[in-house]
Parts: sequence; structure tokens; C-alpha cells
Amino acid sequence: MGLWRGVAAAGVVLAAGGLGAAQAQRLPGGVTPEHYALTITPDLAKARFAGSETIELVLDKPATTITLNAAEIEFVSVKAYRLPAVDIDVNLPKNRKDLPPPRYDLTKLDKDPQTATVALDGRKEQATFTFATPLPAGPVALQIEYTGIINSRLRGFYLSKTKLRSYGVTQFEATDARRAFPCFDEPALKATFNVSLVVDAGDTAISNTKIVSDAPGPAAGKHTIAFAPTPKMSTYLVAWLVGDFKCTEGKSDGVAIRACATPDKVGLTQFALDAAKWDLHYYDKYFRIKYPLAKLDLIAVPDFEEGAMENFGCITFRETEMLVDARNGALPAKKEVAETVAHEMSHQWFGDLVTPEWWDNLWLNEGFATWMETKAPAKWQPKWGYAQDVAQDKNRTMDEDAGPNTRAIRTQVETPAEIDELFDDIAYGKAGAVIAMVENWVGEETFRKGVQAYLAAHLYGNAQGEDFWETQARVSGLPVDKVMQSFVDTRGVPLLTIAGVGAGAPVTQQRFSISGSPLAAETWTIPVCFKTAPCRLLGPGQTTLDVPVTSSDHPFVNANAEDKGYYRTAYAADQWQPIVANAEAGLTPPERIGLLGDRWALMRAGRGTVGEFLDLALAVKQDPSAAVMESALGRVRTIASRIATAADRERLEAVVRREWGPVYAALGGPRRHETYDHAQLRETLFEALGDARDPAVLAEAQGLAKQLFAGQKLADPMMADAAVALATANGDVAMYERLQQVSQTATDPDLKLAALHALTGFHAPALVKRTLEYAVSNDVRSQDSWALIALLLEGRETQDQAWEFVTQHWAEIERKSTAGSGARIVGAAGSFCTAEKRDQVNQFFQEHRVGSSRRTLARSIDSIDDCIRLRAAQEPELRQWLDRQAPQ
Ligand SMILES: [Zn+2]
Repeated sequence: MGLWRGVAAAGVVLAAGGLGAAQAQRLPGGVTPEHYALTITPDLAKARFAGSETIELVLDKPATTITLNAAEIEFVSVKAYRLPAVDIDVNLPKNRKDLPPPRYDLTKLDKDPQTATVALDGRKEQATFTFATPLPAGPVALQIEYTGIINSRLRGFYLSKTKLRSYGVTQFEATDARRAFPCFDEPALKATFNVSLVVDAGDTAISNTKIVSDAPGPAAGKHTIAFAPTPKMSTYLVAWLVGDFKCTEGKSDGVAIRACATPDKVGLTQFALDAAKWDLHYYDKYFRIKYPLAKLDLIAVPDFEEGAMENFGCITFRETEMLVDARNGALPAKKEVAETVAHEMSHQWFGDLVTPEWWDNLWLNEGFATWMETKAPAKWQPKWGYAQDVAQDKNRTMDEDAGPNTRAIRTQVETPAEIDELFDDIAYGKAGAVIAMVENWVGEETFRKGVQAYLAAHLYGNAQGEDFWETQARVSGLPVDKVMQSFVDTRGVPLLTIAGVGAGAPVTQQRFSISGSPLAAETWTIPVCFKTAPCRLLGPGQTTLDVPVTSSDHPFVNANAEDKGYYRTAYAADQWQPIVANAEAGLTPPERIGLLGDRWALMRAGRGTVGEFLDLALAVKQDPSAAVMESALGRVRTIASRIATAADRERLEAVVRREWGPVYAALGGPRRHETYDHAQLRETLFEALGDARDPAVLAEAQGLAKQLFAGQKLADPMMADAAVALATANGDVAMYERLQQVSQTATDPDLKLAALHALTGFHAPALVKRTLEYAVSNDVRSQDSWALIALLLEGRETQDQAWEFVTQHWAEIERKSTAGSGARIVGAAGSFCTAEKRDQVNQFFQEHRVGSSRRTLARSIDSIDDCIRLRAAQEPELRQWLDRQAPQ
């Protein structure tokens, strides 16, 4: 799955699972499902469907009961037929593509089927079929007739609506296939699937495989679309969509690829199609395993909980994650689409072909896809600065992972709520960073061979972490198993302290605590890569290392070459000065981003001052990399909003204007053929100076916003969002209503969402109230509602009013919530910075329990405590630093 990060600052566990999600447990075993034949007849108008299902399975021993998963399903009848031993292996490659499915006439095989009584266990999300006479060991077919609901909560088989019509779409990961068909809903219980859909005459359907037949009937005004059998795969990867989707078509390595959307948006699908074509060929070569299906569809869905979902051959997306104007779209929007497409397509191998045995190894899916989501696009578009994005993401992940309520990458889980809470930045960001670190250490080509060997050994099967790292160790001849196991099974972030240079210099490792308060001790086996020397391993208990210095005129140490290592570094006091002095000339952009991140984290931990961080920010103020500038200025803004008093904030803003104003002025206006970095740099400085209330920049923002509202194109489209955001802070009702209208009528999903989010930039209390009421109204999609509330909770000027609304209107928010939205609001409530609000937040969410948010709430409380502590420790330091700045 691709996580949706609609609120940039959140850093929240994006948990799904729902309010009051039922506790469920593992299936009893003894049953091996082999094939499902499913015929689904949806009634979109009534939001219900009928299902007819045959499951072929093998019983280990004679049984009178069979237990499988089912939720919100009404059973009409369940019969069991005895089958002869199957001589067709439907898993063979020759049967994978467009061959007709193996069909039995069950009534001829077994003239005397047994009818089951059905017992439902809603809490466990299970159904148990009981038979009067024991079923024999060996192959059995269950013939199940049932009905279900097409829900509006964005999981299972659900309804998605536009102004014109309804669509029926699915989202099954992690444990929601059971809402669409009774099944053995665990990732290791792989089977093949034949899906047929009975839909209205004017509608079409899309599923995992190609259409093999399309015939009128069975009822008048309907047609039945049958899809080719799937390869052997897990239940959570099955998908179908019903509606009037339109597609753009292409081909890559002989595979038919389509990019589809609702008819009004098909013009925005070309870019995703181009990315998919490039990725498919790249992955075919990278993995040396050809994409196994005859077709691949990418479909943008109007209502979608997460970012995207890697259903085998049928990838579904939130519209903003797939649709972008190929010609005029802003580059950041294209980068986002390229990443999401690369992420989901890499899952076709890592996740779909080879699947984790159980959800505790979810990181094998998501860590790998997170690592690949920038690796593949960086090869496609080398100038788009992906390495810098990766460094920025790693800083965020490590800050989160250095708190007391983090978890190990591999964590035991049993229930759906526990499983859903695993889809967090540890499974994605941390696991991805660890994989990148190991690749950097063993070498790109060696690592690739290890990946190929691992996949080849488990095709159409399941695997665990050990399978991956033992293969990598064997292929590379290096102790990859030691390194990976220590990072996968150990909580937290290592802090390396380098206390000297040269051979046998004193070096220690300890668990880093971002709040400075002690955490349980942990140790790791760490590949430490110095800038000018080969990587060295630092094992637990080891206290010295050869620490080389760079061979420049002013030698300095860098213990995290290209910022690939998942650790923080502290240097001896006398080492910092030459590092800062050499930052611009001697370090690459990712290394500078890592250095800023280390300095910031150490300051938060009480091992440095805010003044030292600001000195480093000033040292890189001319940086040509936009991502470095953002890493510096983003934190300066955090200092202004989280640490400074009102008076100090004004003084800090004056320093920002004085120091960065001339840098912005020197950049000049947009030029033809300027680099991505140059354009992004202008946007970053524009935004920061606007925040620091630079009068010239604010006037420019007003002018740009006027142009936008008049429907004119900007000379530099990248400035649009920032200009609107700056203009809204003092915006009036007329501007508010104009934006609200754009948020309702724009076809381009990026523009629509930007306009919607811009509503949270207005500070006038009457307008904040309007936005809050709007967020829970029927005019805002459930998928977008929570982000409006979260953004208002995060804004310093709006958070008190937003909190009051949340506490007084919780029932309305809950009514509008999707499976994951409650937890996201719990995460945003971590933006406060007083003991009073901390206690209110804690008490409120203890009384109003939100599903899958246990860890999120603990982190939010930590985050508030951290802010209180940071302000107390650094406010006087900031004042002293400001005193030292010469007045203008
Ligand atoms: Zn994913």
C-alpha cells in the first residue's frame, strides 16, 4: 500500500482499522484453499451485492467443521462437494495467462452434497460451517451463496461517488477481503481466483486479469464479464472495479498497460502511463523476472483511503497520486505520481509474487517498495533530486523513531487493529532506509543479485525476514544477516559518538533519545561509511574504529557518506567547527541534509543549543540545493513557532529577512530552461520570507494570488501554492469563497486539493469556524475531511479553536470518519505545546477511544511533552543568540 501523506507535518501513524474494529484471531488451520471462483452481482443503487462462490480446498484430515473469515456477509446457503484429486496444477506458468479456468460440474462429481449450518462470530470476523457427516480428507469444494453490503467506509467492497454517478470499488489490504467474499484471509493461504462480475449494460469492470468473455445476461439490462484466472496469490491482492472508467493505453515489454480514471479525468492519465511503461521495463531487468501477468491497469478512484494499493495487475490510486497534467503540471506533482507508481509497481514483485508469511514481516513489502519508489524514478529522471528527498525523509523518520513509543520494524501482531497499526513510518520509512543502507554497504550490483536470488527462491510463495537477509549474506559474503537482524528486531536509532580521529579512535554507540530522557539500552551491528574510506562494521561492545579525515586543505570528519546510514552522529567538540566550515564545499547535498538533521536532533536532545543550529543554517544560506535550504529554513520556522516568544519571533523574522532576503533577490524571476533546483529554491525562499513577513514578498504573493483567482497562468506555476497560502493568512470572505468554489469545481485533482487545504490558511475566527463546519459537511469527501481538521489543529493561530470544535463535535467527525481518519486526528493533536492541552488531549481520547490509535496517542502526548521541554530549555538560548546578532 502507498500511504497518503496529505498533511505534511503530521508524521503520524496512518492507521486504519476503524472505530470499534472487531478483534479477530488466526484461522484454525488444517485447510489449504487452492482456487476461488467468484461471481459478484453488485446493485450500486441499493449499495448491496450478491455473491456466488466456489472454493476448492484440501482438508488435512476428515472434518465436520470448516472455519474461514467473513464480515458483514449474510449467508444464503453453503454446500460441500467431494472432489476427485486434482490433476491440473493451475499454478503452472502455461496456465497463468488467458486459459479458461478449470471448471467442474460439481453436481456430477458428487450427487449427494452436504449442506452446512453456519455460525458467525462477529468479534473474530469468522464463519464456521458445520456438517452432519465428516468431510473426508483431501479435495473438497464449498459452494457458497451469500449477500453483502457495498459500504461507504472505503474498505472491502465500497461505493465511490462523483456528481454524476456511483462506482463500486475494492480495497482489501490488510484484512477486508472478508467483507467482499468469505475466504481464508491470511497472506500465506495463497490460491488462484476466477472473478466474474455481472454489471449494468452501460458499465464496464476491471479486475486483476484480462477479460476472457463478456456476454449479455443473465438478467435483462445486464452483462457478465469474466476475467482470466489469476496466478497463485494472497486474498488481500484481489480487486475489482465497476463503473464507466475510461483508459489511456500503452505497452511495455509486451505487456498491455492502461491508465484509467472517471471519464472527465482521462486526459490526466498520460503521465502515469509513461511512468508505468518505463518502470515495467526497468523492473523486468532489475529483478530478472518478467512481470507475470498479460496486462497491468492503473486506476484513479474518486474516494480512496490511502495513497494507492498494489492489487496484482490492478493498481488503484487516490486521484492526486496518479493524475497530473503531463504538459503543464507542476514538477512536485509529477514527482509524487512517479514515486507512487514506482512504489506500487515494485510491489508486483515484492509483495504480490513473494509475500510475507504473516503481517509481522510487512516491512518486507513496504520497506522494499519505499526504497524502490525513489530508486526507479531517479534512474528515469536523474535531475529531479530524489537523493535529497530521501535524506529529508530519513531525518523525519529518525526523529520519530528516537522517541520512547517507537517499535521494532518487526513486531508481533494478531488482530486487524494491531495489523492496521503496523502501516506506519517504521514499516515504510525506516525499513526503506535500512535497505538503502545495506545496499550502499554491499554494493548496488551485489545487492541486486541477492534480491533476484531471494525472489526466485520464493516465487508465488511466502517468505520471512530471515529468507531475505540470509540470501543477501550468502550472495555478498558479508554478515548482512547480523546487520539486518539488528536493525529489524531492535527499536530506535543508534547514536555514534566519534571522540577522535585516526587509527583506533574512540567510538561509541548508544540508543539515541530525542527528548534526552533515558530509554531502554539497545545495540546494533552498524556499517559505518566514512566519506573517503570503505565502510567499516561497528559491532555491539566495540569501542574503537579507524576514523579517517578528508584530504582537503582543512581536514574534517564525515561518518555518514552520502547520508546512507541509519544513525545519528555526534562529533568531538573540536570537530564541529571544521565540519561546519566545510559544509558547502566538502559535503554533498544529502550529507548537508544529514548534518542539519543531526544538529537539530542533538539540540532537541539537549546536546547542543538552538544557536548552534542557527549558526549552521546561516552557514548554508547560499546553498544551491533547494532541499538543503528547506531543511534549514523549515526548522528555522519551527523555532519561530514552537520555541520563540512573540517578541523573539519578531526578532528572528528580522534575521531571516536580513540574511535570506538578498539570496532570494539574487535568484531573479523564472528563466527558460532553469533547473528544478533553481525553481524550487525560489519557491522555498519565497515561502520562508513570506512567513517572516517580508513586505515585498507579501505584496508579491498578493499579486500572484490575484492573477490565479482571475484565472491567469503564472509565469512560475511552482509558486502557486505558496502564494495562495501567504495570501490567505490575511484573506477576506471574498477570497475564501472563491477558493471554496475552486475546491468544488476544479477538474485537476491537485488544484482541487490545494484549494481545499488553502481554506485552513485563513486565520479570522469566523472563517476558521466555517472551515471546520465545512469539513464535516456533505460537501467534503470523507477521504479529505480529516486533513482539514488536522491542518487546523497544527496551525498555531487556529489550533485552540480547532480543538474546541473537535471536542464539541466529535460525533459528527466520527460519523464522517473513514477507517483511518480518527487516528490521524489523534496524531495532529500532538501539535500543542502546553501541559494544559496535553492533559485535555489525553483525557479526551481516553474517553473517546479511536481504533488502531493506541501508539499514536502515546506519541502525541510525547510530542507535546517534547515541545514543552524544548521551549523551556531553548527559549533563553534563542534570546542570547538573537542578542548576539548585530542589529540591522
Ligand atoms: Zn506499499
